[in-house]
Order: sequence, then C-alpha cells, then structure tokens
Amino acid sequence: MSLLDSAIVRLLPAVPKPVVQRFSARYIAGATLAEAVAIVRGLNAGGKMATVDVLGEEITREEETRAIAQAYRDLFAAIDTEALDSNVSIKPTALGLGLSYELCRENLLDIVRTAAASGNFVRMDMEDSTTTDETLRLYRELREGGHDNVGVVLQARLRRTLGDIAALADLRPSVRLCKGIYLEPAAIAFTDAEAIRVNYLRCLDALLDGGSYVGCATHDEWLIGESLARVLQRGLGREEYELQMLLGVREERRDELVAEGHRLRVYVPYGEHWYGYSVRRLQENPAMAGVIAKATAGRLLRLRS
Ligand SMILES: Cc1cc2nc3c(=O)[nH]c(=O)nc-3n(C[C@H](O)[C@H](O)[C@H](O)COP(=O)(O)OP(=O)(O)OC[C@H]3O[C@@H](n4cnc5c(N)ncnc54)[C@H](O)[C@@H]3O)c2cc1C
Repeated sequence: MSLLDSAIVRLLPAVPKPVVQRFSARYIAGATLAEAVAIVRGLNAGGKMATVDVLGEEITREEETRAIAQAYRDLFAAIDTEALDSNVSIKPTALGLGLSYELCRENLLDIVRTAAASGNFVRMDMEDSTTTDETLRLYRELREGGHDNVGVVLQARLRRTLGDIAALADLRPSVRLCKGIYLEPAAIAFTDAEAIRVNYLRCLDALLDGGSYVGCATHDEWLIGESLARVLQRGLGREEYELQMLLGVREERRDELVAEGHRLRVYVPYGEHWYGYSVRRLQENPAMAGVIAKATAGRLLRLRS
C-alpha cells in the first residue's frame, strides 16, 4: 500500500458504520452461532480446518464477559453435535482482561476446561502490546496448571518476540505466528515491512528448533513459501505444522495450498461485536483505499448539498 493509501485507510473510523458493515461482510461469518456453524461446515467440506472466534472486543462490563464465556460453551456443544473440525480462538479482552486479570483467568479457565472435556483446543489471540505481558502470564499459568489444550499467538512485529520465544521454551508452546495487526511504536516494534518479514522467519526458526507446533498465519506469498521451505527442510510431516488464513482473504490460494497437501485452518469470527474486527481487516485490504475515499467523499458531498 502506498503512503497515501495508508493515510486514507486510517480514516476508516470516519466512514459510516453501515458502509463498514457492507464492505466487511466477507470477513465475518455473521451475527449468530448458526451462521458460524454453516461457514465451518462449508470449510470442512472443502478440506479446511477452522478456528472460531466469538467477537467481543468492545465489552466493558463483567456480565458481558460471562455472556462471551457462555457463547463459547454453546460453540463447543455445536462443534461436538455437528462433528466439526474446529477449535476456538479467544481474545483476552473479550473475557475481561481490561477489567481484571482474575476475571479473565476465571472465564478462560472455564473455556479451557469445557474444551478439554471434548478433546478440543483453545488458542489465545494476541492483542495490542499493552496486553502482551498479561496474556503470556495467563498462558504460562494455564500450562503450569496442567492445561495442555491451549496455545498462544506471537507477533513478529514486536521486537520482544524472540525473547518471548526463549522465555516460553520450557513449555514447548503451540504457537500461531503472525506479523501482528496492531500498529505499535518503533521503540518496541519493527515498522518496516521487510524487517517484520525477517523477524517472522527468525521467530519461526526458533520455534521449530525448539520443537513447537506452529500455525503459520499469513497471506504473504513470499512468507508462505519461506515458511513451507523451513518446514520441509526439517522433514516435518503433514500433522506437525499448519497454515492459517482469515475468513474472506485469498480464498483461491487457500484451495491451492490444501490441494498441495498442506493442512490449513481458517479463522472464523462471528457475533454482534463486529465493528473493531472489521475495521482492522478493511485497513489491511489493499483495495480499500479507493473504496474508503469514495464512501467518505460521497458522504461529505451529501452533507454539503
Ligand atoms: C489466522 C490468523 C490469525 C491471526 N491472529 C492474529 C492475532 O491474534 N493477533 C494479531 O495481532 N494479528 C493476528 N492476525 C493478523 C496478522 O497479524 C496480520 O495482520 C495479517 O495476517 C496481515 O498480514 P499478512 O502476513 O497476511 O501479510 P500482508 O502483507 O498484510 O498481506 C499479504 C497479502 O494478503 C492479502 N491480504 C491481507 N489482508 C487482507 C485483507 N484484509 N483483505 C484482503 N486481502 C488481504 C493482500 O493480497 C496482501 O497483499 C492473524 C492472521 C491470521 C491469518
């Protein structure tokens, strides 16, 4: 994306919500569990695995976090009943991390135990850098408490990540490795696209050398190729790594990778709290700058006339 395009895309919060909703529909399964289940069924039929996220980033009250935890219990029941090939992803703030560490731990523990009862797995998404320490602390507490059906996400954008991998090595963590969506200051993050790629591969090497199971979460063609080369160099079998992509992104490439014999998991978000997630996805879409410029200009013209 050019500098001008990036600047336009940052104006997205000024775009009316219905416009955001229309353009982000491809990234969200829908508002209800039934819609998420239908999408996962379709993905499974096409040979893909899924991870379902109950959207809840904008919550501000304890009852809302309890409702999100309940939504995950309902989700596990649906996964079981429908025999879906899907695990779940959670965002610590949706479970109350912004309200209290203990509240988040309680909700998370509840979800991890429910998952274990049906042999399922919980991936802890990584949010902005203000949450990294506490998210990693929650992860360690769970693992040291004997909960092995939980994994974490690490972001190659952050300068600290190689150090975090070293610090987590004793747990041989299951890790989703991504670039990191949250824009962070240069003091703590790489801001140049090439530097983020280089760090991604350093982190991937460190994780694979440490025996971690890694989900390579990227749509970046060069990075997919380099990641697969590293997996192959180490002679890893099909079950020993996976590729991950977001719902609505690079669908044809997804199919090709599955046809080539790789296991691929699609991230499927659903729920009422769609706005924050949608804005981030649209901001990453290279084709969005023009659309946003038109939508915003159209609105300004209407306001003037
Ligand atoms: C399964 C999964 C889970 C993730 N979980 C987290 C998480 O927990 N924490 C976190 O910080 N980040 C997470 N991310 C987001 C990730 O950090 C990146 O922000 C995102 O994947 C874009 O980086 P990229 O590696 O795909 O490379 P990019 O260089 O951004 O994208 C490569 C190409 O992919 C296509 N593309 C990418 N995004 C879009 C889009 N929205 N619409 C249309 N085309 C697009 C474009 O062709 C683009 O040129 C996750 C990503 C995936 C795939």
